[in-house]
Amino acid sequence: MSTGEFDIIVIGAGVAGGVFAASQPAGTRILVVERDLSEPDRIIGELMQPRGIQALNELELGHLLEGIDAQEVNGYNLIKGNERFIIKYDEVQKGIKGVGLRNGKFLTNIRKELEKRENITVVQGNVTQILQENNAIVGVSYTQEDGTNVSQYAKLTIVCDGPMSLLRDKLSKVNKKVTSYFMGLVLKDLELEFPSYGHMIVTGDFPILVYPIHTNAYRILIDYPGGKAPKMGKESIERLKESVVKVLPQEMIGSFLKAMDEDELKVMPNHSMKNQAFRMKGAVLLGDSLNMRHPLTGGGMTATFSDILCLNGELAGIDFRDETKLESAVNEYYKNRGKDVETINILANALYEVFTDGELKEACFEYLQKGGEQATGPLSILSGINRDKQFLLKHFFKVAMQHPVRFITKPAKQIRLYKNATRIIRPILKDEGVSAMI
Ligand SMILES: Cc1cc2nc3c(=O)[nH]c(=O)nc-3n(C[C@H](O)[C@H](O)[C@H](O)COP(=O)(O)OP(=O)(O)OC[C@H]3O[C@@H](n4cnc5c(N)ncnc54)[C@H](O)[C@@H]3O)c2cc1C
Repeated sequence: MSTGEFDIIVIGAGVAGGVFAASQPAGTRILVVERDLSEPDRIIGELMQPRGIQALNELELGHLLEGIDAQEVNGYNLIKGNERFIIKYDEVQKGIKGVGLRNGKFLTNIRKELEKRENITVVQGNVTQILQENNAIVGVSYTQEDGTNVSQYAKLTIVCDGPMSLLRDKLSKVNKKVTSYFMGLVLKDLELEFPSYGHMIVTGDFPILVYPIHTNAYRILIDYPGGKAPKMGKESIERLKESVVKVLPQEMIGSFLKAMDEDELKVMPNHSMKNQAFRMKGAVLLGDSLNMRHPLTGGGMTATFSDILCLNGELAGIDFRDETKLESAVNEYYKNRGKDVETINILANALYEVFTDGELKEACFEYLQKGGEQATGPLSILSGINRDKQFLLKHFFKVAMQHPVRFITKPAKQIRLYKNATRIIRPILKDEGVSAMI
């Protein structure tokens, strides 16, 4: 392949890189370099929120969810001890739902789509270097399966090498934090009262999620708080089993114990990372390599598709030979992307902290249990359809302030609740609503 054959090089055919490449106009010449093109079996990116599906449709790629036995998700079943209630996505009335899927099957659909496009070349290779000339990124160097190194050049390099990105440090100030770990298994033969719902279990000190991913299979994600990975020795596994059984609803225990014996327990770190890109000519970060939030609310893919819509909007109609226009398109993307993802990020990071603070968790559960707008309002933010930050903050503070009379009857507890809510939200808000470019 000759130098300058491509307009765009995409690093990583994951959720971000794959969907971005597939959503480009037919005339844009694209090279996608993916480290491993085989179908992955991973526990990330398996619940797509309604706005994610809507955005995928806007990108004219809604069909990528077909033929993979994806399961509809109509809302959440919240469970705390013996108390439980469901909240349906408001959008379900308009036919907009969430979906549970196997991430590997979705990625295979995306990659098949790329193979169909004449303007896209997909190669398997490990990108080892982003090539720089005169303060601009001009392409990539990658190692092929047979060990040979190849360099390729393009006007724009889209860096989508995911949560564990090794390439982002050239292009951004990396301030990644591991907030907790998710341990995942597949539960089979579950008899649930609300099979087409995500189940959020907040009975114990750590939240647990259960949602359908294909016929007769549910993903369980068990949170392991803190920045240290869980130990996987025999004794630790036994302790884990005991602590999960204590808090899991009765109808899930048999299936969980069977899965512990038969399935491989997969572990993934849950990061949060604010967007802080350096402006580097010829390159742009997209997906988890740019910005991450806690996966409790399943917002990562939705945020990624919003970013793709934003970047595509800025790139629309641009002649890739016009470097000035290309640069200004990337600048505008960095400047504007935040407004469509900030509520997803704020809710994800704040809700995780709320669920790990006993008193705030109680208050949140009680608030949502009231139903009506107090339940569907916050869920509309979680679904990604409602992106009104003031609306999110109104509900966030109403959780802490739902019993103002307690400032008189139980002042110490009420003040603590309010202070803790403020302590949680303040740094999270500081990280959002700012340009991604520093
Ligand atoms: C435990 C967990 C659960 C999650 N659950 C959900 C959920 O339910 N719903 C949701 O919306 N989001 C969820 N997320 C977040 C979501 O998975 C991510 O936001 C999304 O996958 C980001 O897409 P990406 O393309 O940036 O990364 P990825 O999808 O990981 O893609 C990165 C790609 O780059 C490739 N790559 C990496 N390095 C190189 C290299 N050097 N050269 C070539 N290729 C390379 C990788 O092989 C991979 O294919 C979860 C995250 C975690 C950690």
